[in-house]
Amino acid sequence: MKKKLLLLCFIILFLNGCSKKKEELIIEGFIEEKQNAIIGIHYPQIGIKTLDQQIEQYVFDIKQEFESQISTSLSLNSSELNIDYEYWKVGNRYHNITLTTFINSNTLAHPMHEIKTFVYDSNTNQFLTLDDIISINLVNIKTELLKKHKDCILIDALENTVTDFNKKQIKFTFTEQSITLYFDPYEIATGACGFIKYEIVSPTFKIEIPTQEKIENTFEYHPSKKKLSITKPTIALTFDDGPSQYTKEIVELLNKYNANATFFILGNKINNYQETLKFLLQNGNELGNHSYNHKQLTKLSEQELKQQIESTNKIVKETLNYDIHLLRPTYGAITNQLKNNIDMEIVLWNVDTKDWKLRNSKMIAKKALGDIKDGKIVLMHDIYKTTLQALKLILPELEKQGYQIVTVSELKEIQKLRNEKQNR
Ligand code: ZN
Repeated sequence: MKKKLLLLCFIILFLNGCSKKKEELIIEGFIEEKQNAIIGIHYPQIGIKTLDQQIEQYVFDIKQEFESQISTSLSLNSSELNIDYEYWKVGNRYHNITLTTFINSNTLAHPMHEIKTFVYDSNTNQFLTLDDIISINLVNIKTELLKKHKDCILIDALENTVTDFNKKQIKFTFTEQSITLYFDPYEIATGACGFIKYEIVSPTFKIEIPTQEKIENTFEYHPSKKKLSITKPTIALTFDDGPSQYTKEIVELLNKYNANATFFILGNKINNYQETLKFLLQNGNELGNHSYNHKQLTKLSEQELKQQIESTNKIVKETLNYDIHLLRPTYGAITNQLKNNIDMEIVLWNVDTKDWKLRNSKMIAKKALGDIKDGKIVLMHDIYKTTLQALKLILPELEKQGYQIVTVSELKEIQKLRNEKQNR
């Protein structure tokens, strides 16, 4: 009997394992607000075990180190850890990943900036070094680096870093057209130069590079013409920090209850969740901007701030042909700098479900349902499974209570119509 059960388990495991076909890669992450620190981390999980483990280990080590530092720090000044990623494939086999870490902490004299690269060949299941993809003359590269950055290059550091002996350690990524080498701030130059990227254009690859297939973007966005009621009790649902692997299911669930929501998304996730976002828009939902990679906007220079916001708007326009008008600043923090530099409508919330903290569907539902009243804007996060599960409790209850669930823009429209009616 036991043996049979065991066999059955194996068959189920096997079937499950085989049928799990990933449409989009998963972007994992942490958005956490602690007493004296904020953490915003995003990293990809490609679906290749060896590669995913290395990426995850790298991120976890940095997070752990940061958390141990802030736990011993007596300062109440807020420290920040941000890890952002880029991921692209060359052909169907070469996976390129960069992870950029930014730490601003009172235990450091300067903010720390660091880049890590992974280049992985999924046909041979191997990590590639620069040596594997190109025969390179480092002397020429040193000369060019020196010429290009003569004001900040530290000659000794350059001599010690860019050597044949170190070749396998040099950080790089590649595309069909070029190879890029990366040097951290202070690695070969003074901090004034920041990251140094060196691009080798049209290199002679040692490996075979498949030709790039072009994908035409034909998505057309049509705003929904939903009939809104001005008499029904109405709330706007909003989701921050996504999209994620749960977003599509959340949209399907909203559809079931004839509900819509506004999703304040991060620019760094758009490319990996294009299909989800198209589905979201096609079903009458709305997109808002929540920065590019969840940095604390209030601590950025004017230029960095604009870049965080504008790059996200630009990617959305290019990939989804959609114009974003609404902005939800990260951590809900608004400054005059933000208001003066960004020409978008800022949207906060007045019901906080605390889903990012509670991570328990029943508790999230209880908190939400306890605070919801006509006209409220509800804050949730579509990056947690428990939030999706909580919605399965919240939506039927709101339906029972006769609520109409709409986007932020629709709520504003309803409020405008109600005011007009009252003043008539
Ligand atoms: Zn957020």
